[in-house]
Amino acid sequence: MERLQKVLAEAGVASRRKCEELITAGRVEVNDEVVTTLGVKVDPGQDFIKVDGKPIRRQAKVYVLFNKPKGVITSASDPEGRKTVTEFFKNIKERIYPIGRLDYDTEGLLLLTNDGEFAHLLTHPKHHVPRTYLATVNGVPHGSLLDKLKNGIELEDGMTAPAEVDYQDVDPDKKESIIKITIYEGRNRQVRRMFEAIHHPVQKLKRVQFGPILLAGVARGKYRHLTPQEVKELK
Ligand code: URA
Repeated sequence: MERLQKVLAEAGVASRRKCEELITAGRVEVNDEVVTTLGVKVDPGQDFIKVDGKPIRRQAKVYVLFNKPKGVITSASDPEGRKTVTEFFKNIKERIYPIGRLDYDTEGLLLLTNDGEFAHLLTHPKHHVPRTYLATVNGVPHGSLLDKLKNGIELEDGMTAPAEVDYQDVDPDKKESIIKITIYEGRNRQVRRMFEAIHHPVQKLKRVQFGPILLAGVARGKYRHLTPQEVKELK
């Protein structure tokens, strides 16, 4: 027997948290009875589960590494009609969704899956997956400022955890520089806010690594499937 929200998430309905919301909202039925409490256990092979009146399907698990271009929103739909990541996966029949987020203006490595449990695991704050970015910033921050970012800096939602920060490239006229930064948290607009805090705002941001997975080799706007070995390493 498995928890209902886990079975829903594994069937690709939505993330586990979202599935819990679907249950409490009364949108889930087990054997034709609406279930609104969390913690109910079901047998995925025996029990007949429906969401909004439609039976769920057990799906093959899909794990995708996408090189998100800037100017694309990390969600399934956008009320403002902006281009969304889902438009890039018309050839994938399973309903996949992003693991975490990249800002509209951020490019680079984004993982997508229909495995709700896996997505939950990787985005949980307890699971400190390193995320590496190349940030092109205004000017050249002094080493002492990079030390502040390394040690942790006060943002409006609290101190950041220690990070790895180094120069990647410095423009000869010192108008801009590229800083490589690895953070172990996934707060909203975190890298941009960290550089704003040292008065070197980010002009361009690209995620190049997530845990052991590298972006290298995937062209902008393209994707590849993760290998079973990569999926195992991420868990
Ligand atoms: N940090 C940011 O500021 N933006 C992102 O998209 C990801 C991390």
